[in-house]
Amino acid sequence: MQQPVDVIVVGAGLAGLNAARQLQARGHTVTVLEARDRVGGRTWTVQLEGSPFDAGGQWTGPGHRRMMALVDELGLRTESTFHTGRKVLELEGQASTYSGTIPRISVWKLLRMQVAVWRIEWVCRKVPLDAPWDAAAAAEWDGISVRDFLDRHVHDPEVIALTNAAVRVIFGADVDDLSLLHFLHYLHSGGGLQKLIETHGGNQDRSVVGGAQGLSEGMARGLSDLRLSSPVRSVTQDAEGVTVHTAHGALRARRLVMAIPLPLVGGIPFDPPLPAERQALQEKARMGHTVKIQVLYRQAFWRDGGFTGEAVCTQGPIDVVFDGGVAQGHPALLVFVTGRPAQGWSEQDPQRRRQVILEALQRWFGPQAAEPVLFHETDWSGQPYSGGAPVVLFGKGALSTHGRALRAPVGRIHWAGTETALQCTGFMEGALESGERVAAEVAAALAPPAG
Ligand SMILES: Cc1cc2nc3c(=O)[nH]c(=O)nc-3n(C[C@H](O)[C@H](O)[C@H](O)COP(=O)(O)OP(=O)(O)OC[C@H]3O[C@@H](n4cnc5c(N)ncnc54)[C@H](O)[C@@H]3O)c2cc1C
Repeated sequence: MQQPVDVIVVGAGLAGLNAARQLQARGHTVTVLEARDRVGGRTWTVQLEGSPFDAGGQWTGPGHRRMMALVDELGLRTESTFHTGRKVLELEGQASTYSGTIPRISVWKLLRMQVAVWRIEWVCRKVPLDAPWDAAAAAEWDGISVRDFLDRHVHDPEVIALTNAAVRVIFGADVDDLSLLHFLHYLHSGGGLQKLIETHGGNQDRSVVGGAQGLSEGMARGLSDLRLSSPVRSVTQDAEGVTVHTAHGALRARRLVMAIPLPLVGGIPFDPPLPAERQALQEKARMGHTVKIQVLYRQAFWRDGGFTGEAVCTQGPIDVVFDGGVAQGHPALLVFVTGRPAQGWSEQDPQRRRQVILEALQRWFGPQAAEPVLFHETDWSGQPYSGGAPVVLFGKGALSTHGRALRAPVGRIHWAGTETALQCTGFMEGALESGERVAAEVAAALAPPAG
């Protein structure tokens, strides 16, 4: 076995890479082990017809200060999402268009919707960002689903259907499948429901020119020991350090940072076993279901027709569509199939999948939608080192009962990843925050005791 390093970081997503570079900058020796043959994890930029497209994480918005600082540091730039024109809403089979942020539905429904949003925004602020399990109503909220809450306080099936569409795209899950406590914490952490779903001025405001994976590639360039195609198989901890086993052999370090999604940690044997609370949290965590589809066209005909390219649909299989145009790149619509309609998506006939999507795009944007140049699908449930997307879902009872184990170090093992962030959990910004937090935590643990 080679000489031990100060820190091994498992996972070369935004969280692991930010942790590694910050520890390296403090003078520590760091080895990063990444399972895939690329860095970036849930950010993955693919070249389609000569233009870069994000198959995973893409947008950033106001307040994502670490993202913007990293973009500047790496000499990258962002471009704003196209948002001029009308948007489409297909509510329970009825399509309509609208401008701005207010869909064309009855005044009463609008009012009910606004009241529902205000109620959610108000309640979510009662969940402590660093300890959702300490919320006064934590046990009650963690014992019910978002659907239960909406049934009690909103009643209107169409408003519930619209909320479900928003929940699907944010979490890759339906309102029935999400603990209310997890939902409220996520919203508080991200700045509220409105901010999470808005394009202009919200979290979908802009994207990184050239693709979001460039952020990870930029951070990786400065690392002295990054090993790709090195999935970690098991971890052993003793009084002096940690031994990490990969197919290429064993490595030793004084401290270990695990920067991979919680459900995947559950698949790695630890000796001695992780504490029962930590294991229970991992067992109650699972990944959402998201399929992101790039539909490339010769022309941005929807823009010519006065549309932003944005559409929301409540009955599936499409959940939302955005204009995917990139600077001087290929015109495209980005289609999200999420939550229940995304479960088992790739097992369906490919021709049928394509037909269903193109029919919906024709319905909303016109007949030119029938003839794309390229149709490119990424089903994140089929990615073994993500296991689904976009984020980890905590089932009922997970956070209130076992949440304290989320960031608590286990001996020499420390935890990172966007799901451990206080601000913008689930987002790229949250991943960077978690890397920063864990680097400070590990540096303090490595420092010789004062005096
Ligand atoms: C389709 C999609 C759309 C999204 N849209 C947005 C968006 O618009 N804006 C936004 O801010 N966020 C978005 N996100 C979420 C964002 O991408 C994530 O929050 C962020 O990238 C998570 O970073 P991370 O480092 O915490 O985890 P990850 O990116 O998951 O990194 C974990 C790394 O660990 C590796 N790994 C796993 N198991 C092992 C093992 N056993 N050994 C070694 N390595 C291992 C993985 O390969 C991966 O590289 C989206 C995600 C997806 C998938």
